[in-house]
Amino acid sequence: MTTTPYWLDRPLDPVGSAVAKPKVDVVVIGAGVTGCSCALALAERGLSVRLLDTNAVASGASGRNGGFALGGGAMSYLDARSRLGTAGARQLWQLADLGLDRLESLAGDAFRRVGSLRLAADRAELETIEAEGEALREDGFAVEAAGSLPPVLAGLYAGAIRYPRDGAVDPPRWVRRLAARAATVGVEIVERRPVEADALDAFDAVVVVATDGLIASLLPELATHVVAVRGQMLATAPLAELRFPHPHYAREGFDYWQQLPDGRLLIGGCRDQDVGNEYTASDATTGAVQREIEQLATRLVGHLPPVTHRWSGAWGETADLLPLVGRVPGRDRIWVAGGYSGHGNVLGLVCGELLARAIVGETAAGIELFDPTRFG
Ligand SMILES: Cc1cc2nc3c(=O)[nH]c(=O)nc-3n(C[C@H](O)[C@H](O)[C@H](O)COP(=O)(O)OP(=O)(O)OC[C@H]3O[C@@H](n4cnc5c(N)ncnc54)[C@H](O)[C@@H]3O)c2cc1C
Repeated sequence: MTTTPYWLDRPLDPVGSAVAKPKVDVVVIGAGVTGCSCALALAERGLSVRLLDTNAVASGASGRNGGFALGGGAMSYLDARSRLGTAGARQLWQLADLGLDRLESLAGDAFRRVGSLRLAADRAELETIEAEGEALREDGFAVEAAGSLPPVLAGLYAGAIRYPRDGAVDPPRWVRRLAARAATVGVEIVERRPVEADALDAFDAVVVVATDGLIASLLPELATHVVAVRGQMLATAPLAELRFPHPHYAREGFDYWQQLPDGRLLIGGCRDQDVGNEYTASDATTGAVQREIEQLATRLVGHLPPVTHRWSGAWGETADLLPLVGRVPGRDRIWVAGGYSGHGNVLGLVCGELLARAIVGETAAGIELFDPTRFG
């Protein structure tokens, strides 16, 4: 069976490129959502930009993920409040809300504003998510009661809450659209151009490292701050019935799934079942985790539908689940954005743009939440 993600196993639109210039102001390494967002924002501000990727645009996590476009950060709102204070948590959630609106304005039909359903595996998790919902409401964010769950979910979960502002993206279609937009405002896009760590200082330009799970291979000094984590998924043939028309996630996000409009189930997670082996940037799939995902699919559908694709991808995780966005400590011309801890579809767009603002010296409100020096 192929380990090509379902998303990438389809014809995708070309992204194009602006004509190459002999010298550019900024080299952006990594053409996922972060790099494309940063390159676009820099070019819109008049800088000349070259965007390089080892592979194709959106071939990393940005083309391999669950397609959930969620508000907020990777941690719960209650954790964010206790770590960042109410003002900091609110600012993070507001940034993500604005990011969702920006994504909607740029992605066209690669984004569907269908909301998301957060499910609780047991009473204890239900109490936690209800408390989180209450805190979000207090601070002005949209959360709804899920009402009575359909029978299959009611049999498996203790309850749920709904986030109406969330949505579903078609990840590589969206990110390649973002790249195409960047190309039209002057970004030179060079695919299949790997960059080695020792080349970073040799660029006669400002350098942006936007490689999320692979940040440490270019910036070894950040190896303890951003670690690679593997996420695995599978896709099934279309189901006869559309039961999960929006993103669903459960067990603190360890399980996640959605059906696409054609009925296909895309489901992933379960890495906590073999956690020791999932701290890796390897893009192999493993029997241990795939079997757990199959069992989850079986519980949700009543039988295991034919599996058409199995794949994995890596994201960058930080100890406090907040990304690193800013100038790399000790390196004058090198900047970084990544480490979204598995929650980068919206924050990658936001942080790429924040980084571009910081590079040109504009106010980048909120970037201080992601200070790369915070781990010392
Ligand atoms: C299985 C899975 C499910 C996920 N589900 C979700 C989800 O539902 N919602 C959500 O918000 N987030 C999700 N995520 C996380 C999300 O995909 C990432 O946080 C986000 O895509 C990061 O984007 P990025 O542009 O920073 O990095 P990437 O998309 O990983 O892009 C980095 C790029 O850098 C390139 N690169 C790396 N090293 C080099 C080098 N040396 N030289 C040149 N190029 C290089 C890579 O080829 C890659 O294209 C998931 C991730 C995975 C793996």
